[in-house]
Amino acid sequence: MLPYKNFKEKLEKIKKGEVSLKENVSFFLNEIEKNKHLNAFNFVFADDALNQAVKIEEKINSGKHGKLAGLVVAVKDVLSIQGKPLTCSSNILRDFKALYNATAIQRLLDEDIIIIGKTNCDEFAMGSSNESSAFGSVLNPVDNTRVPGGSSGGSAAAVAAGLCDAALGTDTGGSIRQPASFCGIYGLKPTYSRVSRYGLSAYASSFDTIGPFANNTEDIAAVLEVMAGWDANDSTSSKSAVPDLSGNLSMNGKKLRIGFAREYFGDGLSTEVKKAITGVMDKLKTSGFEIEEISLPHSEYTIAAYYILTTAEASSNLARYDGARYGYRSDNSSSLLEMYKSSRSEGFGSEVKRRIMLGTYVLSAGYYDAYYRKAQKVRRFIKNDFDEAFKKVDIILTPTSPSPAFKLGEKTSDPLEMYLMDIYTTSANLAGIPGISIPAAKSSEGLPIGLQLLANQFNESDLLKMSYYIQHNIL
Ligand code: GLN
Repeated sequence: MLPYKNFKEKLEKIKKGEVSLKENVSFFLNEIEKNKHLNAFNFVFADDALNQAVKIEEKINSGKHGKLAGLVVAVKDVLSIQGKPLTCSSNILRDFKALYNATAIQRLLDEDIIIIGKTNCDEFAMGSSNESSAFGSVLNPVDNTRVPGGSSGGSAAAVAAGLCDAALGTDTGGSIRQPASFCGIYGLKPTYSRVSRYGLSAYASSFDTIGPFANNTEDIAAVLEVMAGWDANDSTSSKSAVPDLSGNLSMNGKKLRIGFAREYFGDGLSTEVKKAITGVMDKLKTSGFEIEEISLPHSEYTIAAYYILTTAEASSNLARYDGARYGYRSDNSSSLLEMYKSSRSEGFGSEVKRRIMLGTYVLSAGYYDAYYRKAQKVRRFIKNDFDEAFKKVDIILTPTSPSPAFKLGEKTSDPLEMYLMDIYTTSANLAGIPGISIPAAKSSEGLPIGLQLLANQFNESDLLKMSYYIQHNIL
């Protein structure tokens, strides 16, 4: 067990000499070694991390350190760290090294974090179980026969197993919140455009977001506020000011209004998850919160719209992996066209291929109007539903996932069943709003159950306040 409960406390203890950063990094490296069977990491940077620990401890001792000095972070292997491998857990990028730092990474490094390694994930972040990785599946630390969720399964497992202080993931349709819920930790997806996507390997550019995993709301807020904010290198990044998130976690008596959307509690939701989430709602009521019923009438179309739009974007984004410019090139070809074909056929895994084909289909002449354009319209309806809801409430409370973590291999033969795992998370990406998953309860089998909070665009502040309140007063 760690001798501190959150990052702030750790920094204080380092300052007082009660915790040595080098020993702390060694402890994590040791834990990573002991938990190798989880397969959470694609790469571990032991020497770099130890060297950084010495340098940063000196900075802390001289009082000239960054805000996150000594925070030990694991990074999903879809984000660029200069000079380090960037594989997206795909054979097509198996030997590729990043040429520059992603903006989110650079901002964290500027505040003196220590990067301990790169974490396993579904190939190109496409999946809900981490089983589509070319580096193999990740095991759920709570129950090794189960998946950790996906696509950021390695990051969630690393935090849950105590292999680092925090981790970065990406969320295009739930890939931070769902694994956080399966592993029993906190995971936040920011508003679309809040965190620069520069240096993130694109899956679906109008959905992709970068966010943190941690053991508590305090650490989530501390990491998010450093990464967030406008960036000249990402033309879609927002200029909206980033408030002091970590310094304002208390509600100070203001009671946020909570919304209950019936559409998120219908068929397909496990009774145990339903009971856990409504149990939290009852406790909130007893604590004086008003819970108002709201409606998100287009919820039933979220999965369809999400998988049409994201596969369309993926088919375009992944066209760059052609054997000529990046990564793997097949030797089995005698013409340029054949080289493209065999590099892609051999380099990509089956889920990625399925999505490229689906995306190409929905964008093709004759089908564009029937699928792609229609899905764009549905996306607007879903966004409008949230706009209406947030006129009445500040926060919407839902389950994160319809069930706790499922068994490894249980859903790999049926893509649709796997896609349905994203039923409560994809709407936030369609609407561009922020969401967080909180470890709310345990099932009868001891599996974590996650609760999701959603807020209006750029309202991470209320989202974190509510999360902090629930963490300290309800759970
Ligand atoms: N599970 C979803 C999918 O497969 C979400 C992935 C993500 O958020 N990167 O697309």
